[in-house]
This record gives sequence, structure tokens and C-alpha cells, in this order.
Amino acid sequence: MTDNRYDVIIIGTGAGGGTLAYHLAPSGKRILILERGDYVPREKANWDPQVVNVDAHYNAKESWLDKDGKDLHPHTNYYVGGNTKFYGAALFRLRKEDFGELRHHGGISPAWPLSYDDLEPYYTQAENLYQVHGNRGEDPTEPPANSAYPWPAVSHEPRIQQLSDDFARSGLKPFHVPVGVMLDEKNPHKSRCIRCNTCDGFSCLVGAKSDAQVVCIDEAIKHSNVTLLTNSLVKRLETDSSGRQVKGVVVERGGSLETYSADVVVVSCGAINSAALLLRSANDKHPRGLANSSDVVGRHYMGHTNSVMMAISKCPNPTIFQKTLGVNDFYFGSTDFEYPMGHISFVGKLDAITLKAGAPAIAPNFTLELMAKHSLDFWLTSEDLPDPNNRVSIGRDGKIVMTYTPNNLEAHERLKSKLKQAMKQTNCTMHGHECHQGLFGRNLYVGQQIPLAGVAHQNGTIRFGHDPKASVLDVNCKAHDVDNLYVVDGSFFPSSAAVNPALTIMANALRVGDHLMKRLGVSETKCEQNRQQDRELAVSR
Ligand SMILES: Cc1cc2nc3c(=O)[nH]c(=O)nc-3n(C[C@H](O)[C@H](O)[C@H](O)COP(=O)(O)OP(=O)(O)OC[C@H]3O[C@@H](n4cnc5c(N)ncnc54)[C@H](O)[C@@H]3O)c2cc1C
Ligand code: SF4
Repeated sequence: MTDNRYDVIIIGTGAGGGTLAYHLAPSGKRILILERGDYVPREKANWDPQVVNVDAHYNAKESWLDKDGKDLHPHTNYYVGGNTKFYGAALFRLRKEDFGELRHHGGISPAWPLSYDDLEPYYTQAENLYQVHGNRGEDPTEPPANSAYPWPAVSHEPRIQQLSDDFARSGLKPFHVPVGVMLDEKNPHKSRCIRCNTCDGFSCLVGAKSDAQVVCIDEAIKHSNVTLLTNSLVKRLETDSSGRQVKGVVVERGGSLETYSADVVVVSCGAINSAALLLRSANDKHPRGLANSSDVVGRHYMGHTNSVMMAISKCPNPTIFQKTLGVNDFYFGSTDFEYPMGHISFVGKLDAITLKAGAPAIAPNFTLELMAKHSLDFWLTSEDLPDPNNRVSIGRDGKIVMTYTPNNLEAHERLKSKLKQAMKQTNCTMHGHECHQGLFGRNLYVGQQIPLAGVAHQNGTIRFGHDPKASVLDVNCKAHDVDNLYVVDGSFFPSSAAVNPALTIMANALRVGDHLMKRLGVSETKCEQNRQQDRELAVSR
């Protein structure tokens, strides 16, 4: 065995790749993890809204193209831990119904090749691993779960509790959003998380967010059989002459090219970069791109239709950690609109500096500073439907090209109207119904060409399915066309649902991990013993 030969290579360390690396690490197999980025530097700027939101200091420094050939600057992050370093850690299961076919106003959301029940045990594992804080039984659309959340929900601060009470009085069923932060409210002096206002969109300076680096990669690389190479950009995958095996992973590292090989190669670069990598790996046997006999690679790009809506009240909103409240009453429709509308929750509390970067329409008599002090900052997500013409392709100079036409927009407009109605019914003790001054949209991504929510919730470009003519991956997320190639990031989604995607990516990575253990002949008992040892070691440390 040469130094460049491994049992498994995992490309990417985000929600998919990081979780898989963690799961496979105790197997004893030789595992190489390749990550194009470095660790997020730990510095005070991690929590500086000017540096993070206005200067976009930690965003990827590359430009892609839109369908008209104009540059666009993707709001994405290349670091150990991937986008989970910056995510809001709202960790939702898809609804049980999301796994079946659903009729939307804009068309059909297709069924998945597996059911909710198939994924349920892995959702539980993922919630335990990522220390999700939540309360079962509050969310009216919540799917059945076999166990409680490992931690109680993060409590609402008074302004959010007041809103929750108002919503409940008007007949809605507000719930606590499940979040992956290491907050121990009963023992604040010991709590790793300090409940700060720079969580959603920021990297956690004190390592208390359950992101894929802290939770998974840091643990995985404690095993001597696991190697992580950072600043290692995978440029192409090469196959053997049959085209059925990936035999070389070509990596740009320190200014030169190196080639690694493994029995199993797992791509997990995020839905856009994974599609781009397969397309760039075209060869004689795979002329349209690796594993692309179906011509599906890169197609059906989805990213959700997302809006930030600021509700301005006369009463101030001094909330620090705002992402605790959700409303799913309109997820599947309502009496006056029979189609799914989506999900309402919160972003992290907006501040005046961040508002300047994506200036909303100003509320009458309010400055941006005042708006920031008085706003409730909602996050609305509606499902966008898989359209083969919404796609990732490779353009001039090998640049990524994003072609996207939004769809199913009526659902999103209806969702905004529902929030407007709900806010009008709020009734504060000081100003009554007059407290609420209106809803104001905030631009999500300044200076970007692509509409809607940029690429934060990217998924769908390498969909899994039973039919090799209509999907790239089989149900185990192995490429139909290649025997040792797997994909475990958000690209496998056949539909995007309307809750945040990360927990589903993590759960699926654990599921694929179990399949790979069997394929590699790893004894589950031995592996579990190793995991148990790890847990004991962690407790004793
Ligand atoms: C600001 C923000 C807030 C968010 N909030 C939430 C939330 O609250 N809840 C939620 O569920 N989701 C949230 N998301 C989305 C969530 O972060 C993603 O769904 C998730 O991280 C996707 O996981 P992934 O494995 O598909 O890709 P990523 O996490 O993006 O990981 C891909 C990795 O691959 C690496 N890579 C890419 N190309 C290559 C290459 N060629 N060679 C080597 N390495 C490569 C990247 O550097 C990266 O580390 C948020 C995202 C953002 C940006
Ligand atoms: S709220 Fe907690 S997890 Fe989030 S950034 Fe602050 S300390 Fe970290």
C-alpha cells in the first residue's frame, strides 16, 4: 500500500462529509478527508457584524456566473466544517409527508425513494450527535419520533415569549425551534454556549455551536486511522478504463497536483460544488460528466424561496438569541389555500450595521438604528420545486454557472400574507393592536445576481432514486454509473421541503455510513465498542 492509497476518501467536511467522517472513524479503516478550506481562524472578528455581514470577510473568494454570464459572488463558506460553521443550527427533521409526493400550487414535489420511517433512527442519532435542544409535541407538523430531544428547548426571551403567547391566543401553534447550540440554561456558569447575539451567520468563537468541525471532524481526527488534509482542493476524479471505478482523486495542494486513491470515494462538497466536480470530471467513458449517463447531474437545483421579514413594533425587542420560535401552521396549507406554503421562524437578531448592508424599506418615523432595536426578524421558507432547467453547469474558464428561475412563488406570497395577518392580531399591553407598525422585507444577499436566498440551502443537483435514467445516485447514495462513488451532501434531495436542510443531510450521512460499514466489512460490534471507548475517554477528559 502506498501512502496515497486509502480505504475511504471523503471530499468536504460539512454537514454531509463531516458527519460521515465521524461515523466511519472508529472503523479502523484508513480514511483520508480532503477539504479545500482551512480552519476558521479564531479571532474577535468572528463575532463582528461589520466584518462578517458587511465585509463578507469569511465568504468564499471566488465568483461564479449567472445565466446571463454576469459575475455572482456566492454566499458560501469554504472551511473545515463547511457551511455549518456559519449556520443558524436550526436542526429540523423533514415532515413525514415531505417524503411522499405533494401537490403544490406551482406543481408536484416528487416522492423520495425512501420513507420517513427509513430515516427516523438516523434523525435520532443525528439529533443526539449535534446536541439538538427542542421540545417534542409542540410543532403541529412534527413527524413521529422514537425518542425525546437530547436537551430541552432553548427558552424564549421575554419579547419572543410575548409574541408566542399572542400567536397562541390567535389560534396558532407556535413552537420552540430545535437548535444545535451547547447551551445549558440550568447551569449557566458551566454552559459552553454563552447565549450571544452573533450566532446565525457567524462562526462560534467559543466552539459552542454544534457544527461539523467541532462535533465531528475534531473527534474523527483523534483516530490514528483518519487523516485530514486542509487547503486541498479536489480538481477532478479519474476513472479506470472501464469507467466503473474512480481510481484517482486529483488534488491541488500547496501549488501542485497530487493524486490519491481509495476503495470508496465519497463526494460531499455541497450541492453546487459536488455537481461541478462531477461535470469537470468528464472523460471518454463519461462524456457528459462523471456518473452522468442520465444527464441529471447539476439539474434540479433547489435552494428554497426564503425571505427575511422585519416586523416593527412600538415596543423594543431587546432579544439576544432570537432563533427560538417557529410557526408551521401553514406548512401544508390552510382553509383558504389548499397548497403548502412553508415555514416561519426567525433569523438571529438583526443590528443596525447588518441592516445597512441589506437596507430594508424604512418604516415611517424609524431610522435603521431604531428599526434594529424594535424589529422582530422573521425567516420565511417556502419549497421551490425541482426543475431540470434550474441547474449548475460549467462555463467559460471552468467557472460555475447558476441558472435558476424561481417557481412556486404564490406559496411564498401567501405565507407572507399569513404572517402579516398574524402580526396584526398581536396585542401589547401598552399599545394594543397599534404596537405593530408593519412588515418590511430585508434584502438577503447584497450585490448578488441570483434571486432569492442565494445558495445557503443548496440541494438537489445529484438526486437519488430508483431509476438510473432519472437519477444519479441509488438509494444508498452510490452513483448508478460508478461502483465506488458516493455523494452525501445536500445534492441527493429529490425535493427540498420547506424546513432547513442540515439535519436531513446529517441523518442521511449516518445512514450511508452504515451501508459503507457493511460494504467495507466492518464489524458493527467492534465499531460500537470503539465509539463507547471514545465516549468514556471524552467523559474522563
Ligand atoms: C448563513 C447560513 C445559515 C444557515 N442556517 C441553517 C440552519 O439554521 N439550519 C440548517 O439546517 N441549515 C442552515 N444552513 C445551511 C447548512 O449550512 C447547509 O445545508 C449544510 O452545511 C450543507 O451541508 P453539505 O455537506 O451539503 O455542504 P457544506 O456544509 O457546504 O460542506 C461542503 C464542504 O466541501 C468543501 N469543498 C467544496 N468543494 C470542494 C472541493 N472541490 N475539494 C475539497 N473540498 C471542497 C467546502 O469547503 C465545504 O467544507 C445555513 C447556511 C448558511 C450559509
Ligand atoms: S449563541 Fe452560543 S453557540 Fe451561538 S455563537 Fe453564541 S456562544 Fe456560540
